[in-house]
Amino acid sequence: MSARTFPVDRIGTTDTGNAALGYRIRCTCGAVGFYPLKRGVKRRTPESIPTHFRSYGWLVGTTDRKDRCPECRKRATTTEETATMTTTQKGPVATVVPLKAEPPPEMSRADRQIVFAKISDHYTGEAYSAGWTDKRVADDLNVPLAWVREVRDQFFGAEGSNPLLDDFLKAKAEFDRECQVLVELRKRHFEEGAALRRRLDDLDAKARDLAVLAKRVEKEIGR
Ligand SMILES: [Zn+2]
Repeated sequence: MSARTFPVDRIGTTDTGNAALGYRIRCTCGAVGFYPLKRGVKRRTPESIPTHFRSYGWLVGTTDRKDRCPECRKRATTTEETATMTTTQKGPVATVVPLKAEPPPEMSRADRQIVFAKISDHYTGEAYSAGWTDKRVADDLNVPLAWVREVRDQFFGAEGSNPLLDDFLKAKAEFDRECQVLVELRKRHFEEGAALRRRLDDLDAKARDLAVLAKRVEKEIGR
């Protein structure tokens, strides 16, 4: 049918280097969608790729410059594009990780695999490794937080709590409290210091007056 090819790109970003790869479609607005490469030797059939993107609302153009994301299609009022719309059909293993387009509410098996792989990269024992949270995984993969929660709950641990992060937050809260107390103390200390200085200045002035008076006494009354 079509001779369209789709570039293979990394899905989301990762700092572990073993990013999931997928076929990429890109809209002129910058939105991208991915179709994860099949794990193992089997590859997607060329026809399954546009079918996949279409099932997620993409308009697959005759050339990549004519690809449109679901959002842009919604916005487009021209019937020209609608006319070329093909009936959508969901593949058995379908996923899309859009940057701007609405994520599908339901996780497909491939989505689940990607989320699972990402969590396993950063989850050891009973918690995430330092710095990782459900939110960070979700942000990194650009998937709904609920997906990460679900997979993590099901396959890893009950809570995404990170002991190291918890320790840090606790210590930070304590530090902030102490800081506040000390700032208040220092402020009071400076105020008291300023008051003391004023009294010392007053006393100095009085000492000078007294010295002048003493000179007069000495001069007028004599020794
Ligand atoms: Zn778009």
